[in-house]
Amino acid sequence: MGSLNTQEPETGFPTSIKPFEPEEFRRHAHLVIDFIVDYYKNIENYPVRSQVEPGYLWKRVPDSAPNGPEPMEDILRDVRNDIVPGLTHWQSPNFFGYFPSNMSTAGFLGEMLCTAFNTPGFNWITSPASTELENIVMDWIGKMLQLPHEFLFSGGGGGVIQGTTCEAILCTVVAARDRMLQKIGLENITKLVVYASDQTHSAFQKASQIAGIRRENFRAVGTTARNAFSMTPDGLRAAIEADVKAGLVPLFLCPTVGTTSSTAVDPLGPLCDVAKEYGMWVHVDAAYAGSACICPEFRHFLDGVEKTDSFSFNPHKWFFTTMDSCCLWVKDPGSLNDALSTNPEYLKNKASELKCVVDYKDWQICLNRRFRSLKLWLVLRTYGVANMQNFLRRHVGMAKEFECFVRKDTRFEVVVPRNFSTIVFRVSPVGTYPDSTRVFGDQGANELTAKLLESVNESGKVFMTHAVVGGVYVIRVAVGATLTEDRHVNLAWDVVQEHASQMLLTLT
Ligand SMILES: *Cc1c(COP(=O)(O)O)cnc(C)c1O
Repeated sequence: MGSLNTQEPETGFPTSIKPFEPEEFRRHAHLVIDFIVDYYKNIENYPVRSQVEPGYLWKRVPDSAPNGPEPMEDILRDVRNDIVPGLTHWQSPNFFGYFPSNMSTAGFLGEMLCTAFNTPGFNWITSPASTELENIVMDWIGKMLQLPHEFLFSGGGGGVIQGTTCEAILCTVVAARDRMLQKIGLENITKLVVYASDQTHSAFQKASQIAGIRRENFRAVGTTARNAFSMTPDGLRAAIEADVKAGLVPLFLCPTVGTTSSTAVDPLGPLCDVAKEYGMWVHVDAAYAGSACICPEFRHFLDGVEKTDSFSFNPHKWFFTTMDSCCLWVKDPGSLNDALSTNPEYLKNKASELKCVVDYKDWQICLNRRFRSLKLWLVLRTYGVANMQNFLRRHVGMAKEFECFVRKDTRFEVVVPRNFSTIVFRVSPVGTYPDSTRVFGDQGANELTAKLLESVNESGKVFMTHAVVGGVYVIRVAVGATLTEDRHVNLAWDVVQEHASQMLLTLT
């Protein structure tokens, strides 16, 4: 191939090279599928946390794109040799970090279909199936979660699949903001205040900032170990009253079901009772734990959701659906649409003008959108609700097991009681050992726990992450990778014990 130049090439593409050719696609896709199957079969052989140094890839790949075509075999060889070592293997059964980003055969294949059609379904007319399947799937999942009827399309509300929780919250804050500013006047935007607990995910702060809420008007209501790090109605009321007294306007409350640090649950009903006195919008962030609430035994964590304005959870965390997907329901789609709708000439069409269809561009930040409902539809149909519940229960069961291991070992302590499939523990500040009792104090326990975590992760055998709750450094073990089985949880505990023994024994 010649060098890049501005002249028209003398000949067209060689016939074998086209951006898409069905039989070529079949051959390459089979190569890629074989690669993926082998990757999954070998996944336990990789160190879970990538061990590369920053900048490693710059040293391995050419510094500019190839001018001519390269064979798929060569590209896959480089994926194996250069990309895989730089992966932290979130799909490994030994991955217990952050929250899971789990997947499934059905989710994967749904993703393939979504990509195959590659339809940007921004208006109903651009792909009616994309919009209508999303409407239907959102009602299905809403029913699985026993959301109040007003959240469903069939009840006057509705749902939309966003990319992430951050986007979902941003859209609802903007809807609430515009609704409020219509009442109190645009010039009062600086008076708007938003509330959450000090355990709330940073996504809420980011969304509020983007929505134009002043940084100093973001209230993080304090939580304590005594309340298992959930927000109390009294704490919320005190914060609101102080703001009202100062002439500010309470706008938005974002309680969490399943906080990121410790999976704490804010009590929705009592918090809504306070927020509603002030006409606030309440959005529930259940990014991780929302999944579990399709099981009757966990549904009580959503008690009070009927008093809220909107609710979201992430199927791309713990619902066997690949990234990205965040399901958002609102009671009043009109508020969302008022804040987000646009109507340019080049998108005008009869169905939209007759207002007889959902145009999802008016429910989100961007215009273009992927056909995400396909993957959820495949997941739900391939497994069925009962199996989905059982998948989740299995993870919770394994987490219970790990929690038992921790509780039985006097060198450790569970710091916050487990609600779902995540355990939060640390080296005990007063540990009892076979030969002695050692008093490390909180500071000592923090340091030892951090050191233990690093040592465990460096081993590459398992991967866990940390949080600090109430000043206490904790290790979080989030069970939820699709491939995790009992033996992996047992291994995780073995690794923790082994590294703790090494570390604590070398202590003088
Ligand atoms: C993971 C998580 C988020 C962030 O989710 P994104 O989809 O990445 O924006 C927000 N809130 C909670 C409680 C989470 O666990």
